[in-house]
Amino acid sequence: MKILFAASECAPFFKTGGLGDVAGALPKTLAKEGVEVAVVMPYFKKMNEAYKEKVEDVLNFEVKVGWRSQYCGIKTLKLGDVRYYFIDNLYYFNRDQLYGYYDDGERFAFFQQAIIEMMERVDFIPDILHVNDYHTAMIPFLLREKYHWIEAYRPIKTVLTIHNLEFQGKFNRSVLSDLFGMSAERYDDGTIEFENCVNFMKAGILYANKITTVSPSYAQEIQTREFGCGLDVILRMENSKLSGIVNGIDMEVNNPATDSHLPHHYSKEDLSGKAENKRLLQEKMHLPQREDVPVIGVVSRLTYQKGFHLVVEELENLLQFDVQFVLLGTGDPRFEAAFSQIGARYPEKCAINIDFNLGLAQLIYAGSDIFLMPSAFEPCGLSQMVAMRYGTLPVVHEIGGLKDTVVPYNPITNEGTGFGFNDFRPFIMMQTLLQAVDLYANHRQYWDQLVQNAMSRDFSWRQSCMVYLQLYNSIL
Ligand code: ADP
Repeated sequence: MKILFAASECAPFFKTGGLGDVAGALPKTLAKEGVEVAVVMPYFKKMNEAYKEKVEDVLNFEVKVGWRSQYCGIKTLKLGDVRYYFIDNLYYFNRDQLYGYYDDGERFAFFQQAIIEMMERVDFIPDILHVNDYHTAMIPFLLREKYHWIEAYRPIKTVLTIHNLEFQGKFNRSVLSDLFGMSAERYDDGTIEFENCVNFMKAGILYANKITTVSPSYAQEIQTREFGCGLDVILRMENSKLSGIVNGIDMEVNNPATDSHLPHHYSKEDLSGKAENKRLLQEKMHLPQREDVPVIGVVSRLTYQKGFHLVVEELENLLQFDVQFVLLGTGDPRFEAAFSQIGARYPEKCAINIDFNLGLAQLIYAGSDIFLMPSAFEPCGLSQMVAMRYGTLPVVHEIGGLKDTVVPYNPITNEGTGFGFNDFRPFIMMQTLLQAVDLYANHRQYWDQLVQNAMSRDFSWRQSCMVYLQLYNSIL
């Protein structure tokens, strides 16, 4: 089986979120299972210099982006068993950030056409072309409606993975001729039109052979009005080809027994290193170094999606209890300011770090007791899995991937790997946090059992990879 995985970001080269992690991990795991797999992404300026030095030039050609003729260089690098292709164009990709430019529509129109035109030139024509999010979602549509004359491409089957439905790629009708050199026929007949825009995601949903999301619960939720971001009707229509496959985490990078960011290593058999990390975290955060107080950690983008309006509302109440709160994150300036102000008022209990810092993130996963993640919606979420792997029990809103990966504490059976709430209200979140704090402070034997349960879970990519393989096989 030959797979081409197309994504706008891919770890370890550059990433802004979960998509980059998946593009990094899934192809590697597929390759271990004997699949011939390549990944294609833009040659972004952000790429680490060490990798830039290693890439080789393969060839170049011109891609028509509407009336424009644009240079397209193909670079490549092989890491392990995976071949990586990079689409190079200085004008589109040599910018400080990956996204957020006025011409993102044009940049990713170029990218998608370049991918298609690259395949026969580098002689990598896959059985399955796996596209991800809106930046590559037009490819199944383009293969059928624009490039159908290329005989060699006709047998290609496509899979679209939706990592976050919020971002759909909505552009003016004129992009069809202006960027893709196509007529507006499929817009005018309503196929890829949505709310007076060309909608890349809608095109992908309708034209891909299979659609997946990154957790089974999110696959259900996006078919409802509440979470469908307007496309729920289309997703309900196409739900026979929709399924959810939960992401894994990199169990080697996220291993408390070997993590290079941690001064003290530990495992579920010997948790003494976790206590040492907690002491160090308290010291670094200028909090009293107490073993008996529960440390509640947060590592996140500070956005509405992640539910921080609930946290801002309840934080001062929470700090009336015997707890410590450590937050690391960047995002919405209003959240940054609100947290910073509360942090300044409670320096003995609350440490706010408005920063992106991988080392501190790992220390928070390791040195906290509770990990707070009350997302309003969550396609999958990785942080809660990392927290469990480090023996830090997550408190989550039971939604999307959080529902699929965290087993909420059951006080009758004492089973669970964390704590969950359904009703998305500040008061309810607070009650759940207090339930966790109470168990930590007053019922340590049950707490310890939950920590063991959490650390015993297998969040590796292998299981999910097997499900992807079944899916690929089902359309070949
Ligand atoms: P999303 O991709 O929606 O932001 P995920 O939970 O899937 O959320 O993944 C977020 C990843 O980014 C986690 O690995 C988390 O540790 C990391 N992360 C988020 N914010 C920060 C930060 N400020 N510093 C370091 N790592 C961060």
